[in-house]
Amino acid sequence: MTRVAVNGAAGRMGRAVIETAADRDDVSVVVGFGTEAGEIRGVPVVTEDVAGALAEHDADVVVDFAVPEATLALAEACVETGVGLVVGTTGFDEDGLAALDSASESVPLLKATNFSRGIQVLQRTVREAVRALDDYDLELMESHHNGKIDAPSGTAKTLLEVVQSERDVEPVYGREGHAPRADDEIGVFARRAGDIRGEHELILAGNDEVLSLSHHAEDRAVFAAGALDAAAFLAGRGAGQYDFGEVVDSS
Ligand code: NAD
Repeated sequence: MTRVAVNGAAGRMGRAVIETAADRDDVSVVVGFGTEAGEIRGVPVVTEDVAGALAEHDADVVVDFAVPEATLALAEACVETGVGLVVGTTGFDEDGLAALDSASESVPLLKATNFSRGIQVLQRTVREAVRALDDYDLELMESHHNGKIDAPSGTAKTLLEVVQSERDVEPVYGREGHAPRADDEIGVFARRAGDIRGEHELILAGNDEVLSLSHHAEDRAVFAAGALDAAAFLAGRGAGQYDFGEVVDSS
């Protein structure tokens, strides 16, 4: 049984993680961290002395869905206590990413912009499609709920990285006015409305056809389940960076 702490416990994803874990017997959420102390489904939520709480509750791994500043403070507490870290938060700048890299020299760390298995397979499919259809026009779209802070989504950025690892294209974020398309560009569009859980689509167009590769999450439980799978995978491992693809391939 992996003992899990949840950062951002009162948020949309934090609550989904606590609820999803309650139905599983391989993981148990022992403590949560947030901006207000309290209790969620019997899990105590604390606001300070994160390192002390990790030790007190004997946590193996923290699952983090919060905001970048909170994740970075948490990473320091994980290094101090030797607790593994699963990072689901998105929107880090270069310095933030470097700080997580350096934390992974001391503790096991698994960061993914998307913990759904379908998106993991989508990344592989996108790579193959871009490689095979090497002169088709590419356009990337994503839609999320109206409370999402960062844009484009971390998942869209990951998909863009996959595309760019295969082809030299420059992202153009939205278009307005006189904006003819260049051959080496990829349009990237972010929509924000309602409570959309997450939709991503890459289209590849050329040669009188359009290939559309898309994914939509129906419930936050899909990300929660993937993050908990990552936590169980990380428990007991040595320091270093791990990939969600390894988790998917191992189960
Ligand atoms: P949310 O706004 O509903 O929740 C964020 C929570 O973090 C809030 O409860 C907030 O109070 C808390 N928080 C803020 N400062 C804190 C601090 N110092 N310490 C602890 N908690 C603090 O957002 P959300 O929809 O749950 O998303 C959270 C993050 O997860 C975002 O970056 C989002 O993009 C990302 N996300 C990732 C995946 C994935 O699969 N990787 C899936 C969904 C969302």
